[in-house]
Amino acid sequence: MASFALLLTSASAQIFATNEFLQVQRGELPIIITAPHGGSLAIPGVPKRLGQEGERTNGKFVTAQDTRTFELAAATVKRVEELAGKKPYLVAMKVHRQYVDPNRPEKEGVEDERARVVHAAFHAHVREFVDEVRKQFPGGAVLLDFHGQAASAGTIYRGTQNGTTVLKMVAKHGPVALTGEASILGYLATKGIKIEPPNTPPGTPPETRAFGGGYIVRTYGSHTTNGVDAIQLEFGASFRTDAAKREETAKFLAEAIKVYAAKYLPPKQ
Ligand SMILES: [Zn+2]
Repeated sequence: MASFALLLTSASAQIFATNEFLQVQRGELPIIITAPHGGSLAIPGVPKRLGQEGERTNGKFVTAQDTRTFELAAATVKRVEELAGKKPYLVAMKVHRQYVDPNRPEKEGVEDERARVVHAAFHAHVREFVDEVRKQFPGGAVLLDFHGQAASAGTIYRGTQNGTTVLKMVAKHGPVALTGEASILGYLATKGIKIEPPNTPPGTPPETRAFGGGYIVRTYGSHTTNGVDAIQLEFGASFRTDAAKREETAKFLAEAIKVYAAKYLPPKQ
């Protein structure tokens, strides 16, 4: 443990956390994919967070894994690269949510000093990538935050805080960039996928409260002074559990990203 304590205070802490506990890829496109809840590793010596018992009934924080969202994010990154010939950015947590939750502020998502390093490393990478795409792609960029929900197996829920975290996109192009046929969710709907809210303009009806956009999209969304358009995607089980269906989801997502980018994202200047 002594060596670990040293790491915590050294500049290598982030690199250590990255190599062990995060999947990170620097990209070439104005697309950042994050997946905070798909991990399955433990952090050696770190106890499970207290939120694990009776999580949904006693008001404590959820610590359940979003099953196969790590794999879905990885598959999507691969498909985008195949389709576009360039890489999107990726920051995916390998650690189980029982130990660290990057979609919560540190005081809620971390209960141990060693988990804090992993939480900080996750956010350091997202911040770095958001800053980088803002510089390289001043015409716009999108962050997609991947999650899994158990409320409806055949539905993808949209989370933008009812349009807040995609403020720039909507201001520049109108709600059609979030909900139209060349939008990411609009394209998925053309493939027969059920989207909730059903690609109606932001707020009409409001997004489902539990899936309406968490800490990541609230922190990095385009309503912030240094953010990008950020959409939380909550995938039902049928989009991620079965390997063949997961590949199909990744393929549709890659196509949706390509269609959106062609219409709304100017290339690098
Ligand atoms: Zn989640």
